[in-house]
Amino acid sequence: MKNIVIFGAPGAGKGTQSDFIVERFGLTHISTGDLLRKEIADQTELGKRIKSIMDAGHLVSDDIVVEMIDKAIADDTKGILFDGFPRNVAQAETLDRLLAKHGRSITCMVQLDVPREELIRRILERAKVSGRSDDNEETVKGRLLEYENKTLPVSEYYAKQGKRLLINGLGDIKAISADIIAQIEKM
Ligand code: AMP
Repeated sequence: MKNIVIFGAPGAGKGTQSDFIVERFGLTHISTGDLLRKEIADQTELGKRIKSIMDAGHLVSDDIVVEMIDKAIADDTKGILFDGFPRNVAQAETLDRLLAKHGRSITCMVQLDVPREELIRRILERAKVSGRSDDNEETVKGRLLEYENKTLPVSEYYAKQGKRLLINGLGDIKAISADIIAQIEKM
């Protein structure tokens, strides 16, 4: 059983690489960004509350995402890929506690490293097709700041536990996937 966190800045390729990992190891994919965007699309009460926060590129509150993750962790799965969660150290600690309730733990964290200029270039390119209201030049800078200030410390959290796999996220998509799969299999 593998429980994996895919980690990286906005535009690092988490969504793309998630598809390969999920397929290879038969995992359940949990993306907090997708779950939150669904709330907005369905115009739920929660969706109405979080839309302006997401559009501004800020993180939504821990309570909201933790409740979503708690509901999404099922027992009848070969393992879970967490995408977009944890986004700060408190969320990482909570995730460990939630998994422990199910007799599970994180196997490893896959960190995709991509230089800042390339992240901005990719997000603006994605904006042409994604339809995401937070994929624009103004919001991107805020999202990168949130990442650098709040999310990056999560990298050390997993490094200290010997669970961090550092991946060069620049280059051919298939070559990056092959690198990720090989490193996970070595764990
Ligand atoms: P993503 O699709 O992962 O890039 O997430 C899009 C947006 O959803 C982020 O900019 C945040 O506003 C919100 N979001 C997603 N995951 C989390 C999380 N774990 N904690 C707080 N906010 C989140």
